Amino acid sequence: MLSVDEALRQVLLRVTPRAPAQFPLAEALGLVLAEAIHSDVDSPPHDKSLVDGYAVVAADLVAGPAEFDILEEITAGNLPTHTVVRGKTTRIMTGAPVPAGADAIVMIEQSRLADEHQPLGRVHLAPLRTASGQNIMLRASSMARGDLVLSEGCVLRAIELGLAAEIGRTHVSAIGRPTAAVLATGNELVPPSQTPAAGQIRNSNGSMLLAAAAQTGATPVDLGIARDVRGELRDRIARGLESDVLVIAGGVSAGVLDLVPSVLEELGVAQVFHKIRLKPGKPLWFGVQEKNSRLVFGLPGNPVSSLVCFELFVRPAIGRLCGRQDLALEEVLAELSAEYTHRGDRPTYHPARLTPSAGIPSVEPLRWQGSGDLRTLTTANSLACFPAGDRTIARGEMVRVLRLPR
Ligand code: AMP
Ligand code: MG
Repeated sequence: MLSVDEALRQVLLRVTPRAPAQFPLAEALGLVLAEAIHSDVDSPPHDKSLVDGYAVVAADLVAGPAEFDILEEITAGNLPTHTVVRGKTTRIMTGAPVPAGADAIVMIEQSRLADEHQPLGRVHLAPLRTASGQNIMLRASSMARGDLVLSEGCVLRAIELGLAAEIGRTHVSAIGRPTAAVLATGNELVPPSQTPAAGQIRNSNGSMLLAAAAQTGATPVDLGIARDVRGELRDRIARGLESDVLVIAGGVSAGVLDLVPSVLEELGVAQVFHKIRLKPGKPLWFGVQEKNSRLVFGLPGNPVSSLVCFELFVRPAIGRLCGRQDLALEEVLAELSAEYTHRGDRPTYHPARLTPSAGIPSVEPLRWQGSGDLRTLTTANSLACFPAGDRTIARGEMVRVLRLPR
């Protein structure tokens, strides 16, 4: 059986990042930029006022307050027509170009008109605390034409899309979202809308895995539930193979109705590995359909096993398809808050609560009923990783912890 690290390596070896395409800005949120973007403008395009106020020659107001004749008023979008000279001022609004001759703006709150009824008459201004430059943003101080402003590989957030718009881009070259189909399998499953009859349970994996896929940046495709019947599995799985990634939950263990691996092989999906040294998650199946570069994950049906396998294997695979380096779970070292006894020959990824601290964070393994106990997982924010073997780990020992996505 493969270790977790070796299994992940085997998965990533088979993932080819998607080719870039052009996306309108409105569809590019969360995508990875596939080009370097340079500015086509100076920003700001002129020395601009950062406040509503009065443009002055700073030297006029260094010694103390003074009165000025108002030359004109400029609002954003208009150009000044007068040069400001000593003893004169121009009323200026935020964003408007600073008139020639002026080297500081006095905020409107620091002014008093000599006559309220004459807004362009004389104005009394408070002294400036600093020398020239006050409340002025210099031309090209944010970026100059030709500057590299967005690097290839960056994740496009709202901020980057705003900047792209500022420099005239309507489209960007980026890596598109892969599709990820999710199929739940099992004769015992009913949809969440139904009340389970005797022997039945609701399909929780479907909703959970669709959400997890969306959270990694894939477009989720819901394939519903397939019963443990060859024909039904074959039809749904064939549909699932239209997506870049197919995630199947259940039917990969050693039970008599665990038909998923053989149906996958029938459909031309070659097994890369089946079963790994991991608890929960031992039955994990992974294969590829070479023809269309499809990645297929058969996750164990117990919901906690399903989630752990998704986060450890499917998440980084989708990350790689999307060109993202930052999608793997964050790993930290933490101090164990209570003694923990580990048993078994597989490493355990135990639902836990990580508490940050100024120094070393601490981690508390939660009381957990095993891989069917999704409820306890809702109170976890991490997985504490305990190595294989029978051993009691003392309170205060350092433990590897993987933070679950928020
Ligand atoms: P399997 O991996 O198919 O043997 O399923 C293992 C356990 O997980 C069984 O107890 C199933 O009832 C449960 N299970 C399988 N699929 C789901 C699902 N979609 N939602 C909730 N529980 C499931
Ligand atoms: Mg099953």
